[in-house]
Amino acid sequence: MSITLIRDARVLTQDAAGTEYACASILVDGQRIAALGPGVDHPAPDRVIDARGMLAMPGLINGHFHSPGNLMCGALTDMPLELFMLFEVPPGGEGRVDARLAYVQTLLGALEMLKGGVTAVHDDPYHNPAPEPEVVSAIMRAYADAGLRATVSINHPNRAEPDKYPYLAGLLPPATIAAMRATRLWSAAEITDLYRWFHATWHGAADGRLRVAVSNSAPQRVSDDYFGALSDFSRSHDLPFDIHMLETRLQRVYGQEVLGRSLIQDVRARGFLDERMLVIHAIWVDQDDIDALGEAGCTVAHNPVCNLKIGSGVMPFRRLVRRGVPIALGTDERNTDDSVNLWGAMKMAGLIHKIAERDDRDWPSAAEVLGCATRGGARGMRLAGQIGELSVGAQADLILVDLDTLPFTPLNDLKRQLVFCETGASVRLTMVAGEVVVENGRVLTVDEAALKAEARELALEHADALAATTSAARTLEPHYRAMLERAARVDVGMERRAGPMFP
Ligand SMILES: [Zn+2]
Repeated sequence: MSITLIRDARVLTQDAAGTEYACASILVDGQRIAALGPGVDHPAPDRVIDARGMLAMPGLINGHFHSPGNLMCGALTDMPLELFMLFEVPPGGEGRVDARLAYVQTLLGALEMLKGGVTAVHDDPYHNPAPEPEVVSAIMRAYADAGLRATVSINHPNRAEPDKYPYLAGLLPPATIAAMRATRLWSAAEITDLYRWFHATWHGAADGRLRVAVSNSAPQRVSDDYFGALSDFSRSHDLPFDIHMLETRLQRVYGQEVLGRSLIQDVRARGFLDERMLVIHAIWVDQDDIDALGEAGCTVAHNPVCNLKIGSGVMPFRRLVRRGVPIALGTDERNTDDSVNLWGAMKMAGLIHKIAERDDRDWPSAAEVLGCATRGGARGMRLAGQIGELSVGAQADLILVDLDTLPFTPLNDLKRQLVFCETGASVRLTMVAGEVVVENGRVLTVDEAALKAEARELALEHADALAATTSAARTLEPHYRAMLERAARVDVGMERRAGPMFP
């Protein structure tokens, strides 16, 4: 076990009491913080890091992410989710990814996160046409090699495409519906077997840095028994349960028209809503939904850049906070953000709610936004108290931010400048589980130049698969547009997007 002494930093602990120090030292023993405060010292540390002029704070936590989008930054036209997904997870299963590609693209995203001061990610990788153990393992190996902390699920829905949406079955040509219905759907037993293997193989790997989460993608995308099996697995192993709910207006319409109640009320009535759930997006929620989330103890993952990029709308931040719902902050995927820069997500979270809340006292403060990017993310990963804060006994997942940079000159208000001025460029050191992974802009775990070269090469090789995806998507697009048009005429009794502002 090596001992590192980080000496004389300004410290923002993000602990429950909000403790800050103008000058303090942090003693890291192995993976954990052994001591913290002014006057902390050690007679013979293995390494001393002089942190004068630096801010030590918890590493940021990317609270929601899909690594399979990692090669697609800037690749897709901005469109609403229901069209967008045709180009990224086409229902025909085009665009299969092999283990090497999965490894390289996961590593690429991990590097961008580590360099930007992200020390943990909650990844929900989707698998098209179906999950393969070698690909799942390649993703985990990438996180193990990168040195990033990761909680990872397997996102693989099992309902036929026309059943996931309102109206679609009546809009698609019969031959297309028949082809979609011919797709092999996984059974509850199959997904449970895969999760059993995944949990036994990877949960707690890399000295505990890697953990398993359960995902059902979204309630309307899975059958009842499948949902039940996934929920049981999450409960019996106490794992986070990733679920996208009410991201888009169309999903609100689905609940109203198909279920006769909102998706969240439906999940609650079926007994699945619980404190392990990471409810992703929660935009088109009403007060009853928010009350249900609060009562069940769910965490919500807020992805403001993604929500704006694909026009989903604005999550009711203040109403959720008022009901006591913890909020994690995520970038979502690298084709809907189009980065994995949590500083950008923080700034957007600090800005977007101003077009939604009339009363400025309801706007999120910089301190709240920082809380979402640290403690909130930890809560979503079921690691509260262990990461997302600097405290004795917590994991040594921390970053050093250079305060001698333009974003902090002059230093007027630390938290506001972290949220609104910093871009990640001032991060000088990233430590995960006591290991220095990035120092002075250089990643120590991976050969970045070789990785980028291979990523470019694999992206070229994968171009044909992407072209097949695009052409399949173009064929389906008019029918999905017709579905959106029809749903647009349904009154859902709420608005989550700014209306026309200009005459
Ligand atoms: Zn997502």
